[in-house]
Amino acid sequence: MRLRNVKGSREVIAVNEYVVRDEQTMKGRWHELFGNDNPIYIEVGMGKGRFIMDMARLHPDINYVGIEKFSSVLIRAIEKQEIEKLPNLYFIRMEAEYLENVFDKGEVSYIYLNFSDPWPKDRHAKRRLTSVQFLERYKNILSAGGGVTFKTDNRPLFDFTVEQADEAGWRKESVTYDLHHSEYAEGNVMTEYEERFSSMGNPICRIVYFPE
Ligand code: SAM
Repeated sequence: MRLRNVKGSREVIAVNEYVVRDEQTMKGRWHELFGNDNPIYIEVGMGKGRFIMDMARLHPDINYVGIEKFSSVLIRAIEKQEIEKLPNLYFIRMEAEYLENVFDKGEVSYIYLNFSDPWPKDRHAKRRLTSVQFLERYKNILSAGGGVTFKTDNRPLFDFTVEQADEAGWRKESVTYDLHHSEYAEGNVMTEYEERFSSMGNPICRIVYFPE
């Protein structure tokens, strides 16, 4: 993602009511914030938040937490949430490597990874959000039966993801190399990147998998 510093974004994030600060103090207590016992779904690397906002609007009985490491991107999601004020959606500005400090064992019911950064160099493979290192982190916060959905148009990253799922012993429920023309197309909620890349004619790959 091409990043532009957005003036004032840090200041907004420091006080906005939809951004959880001191997120480590929320570990095991997320239901207090939402004020109910609904399941918690997270999107890691949510970008400007289109997908997670659409999901939160469609599924009011699910609580959503969007995670994004850059203030200049997160600010765009905050601006939209400031207008919509969806009660089942909060954001955290954080690096996903530290997810286990923020969510307790079994506290998260589902994880979405959409168009994650590819980190193409082999020596950076551990930084890919679908590496075995990240799968171990997800396993440690997912509840029984919880899983991960990953979408991308980047075929080498997708092939890596499928290999890592096998290496980690995860059960693959469905794998498609052309989501929009597959049996899984119906009900698919598009992300910002998905819209952009599919309009260029790129097929979208998707895997749904579980740490069992
Ligand atoms: N998910 C959105 C979509 O599909 O439109 C955005 C995709 S964009 C390519 C990837 C986003 O993930 C960027 O905003 C980036 O800052 C964020 N990101 C990448 N690695 C991350 C990490 N380790 N922790 C938190 N956010 C991350």
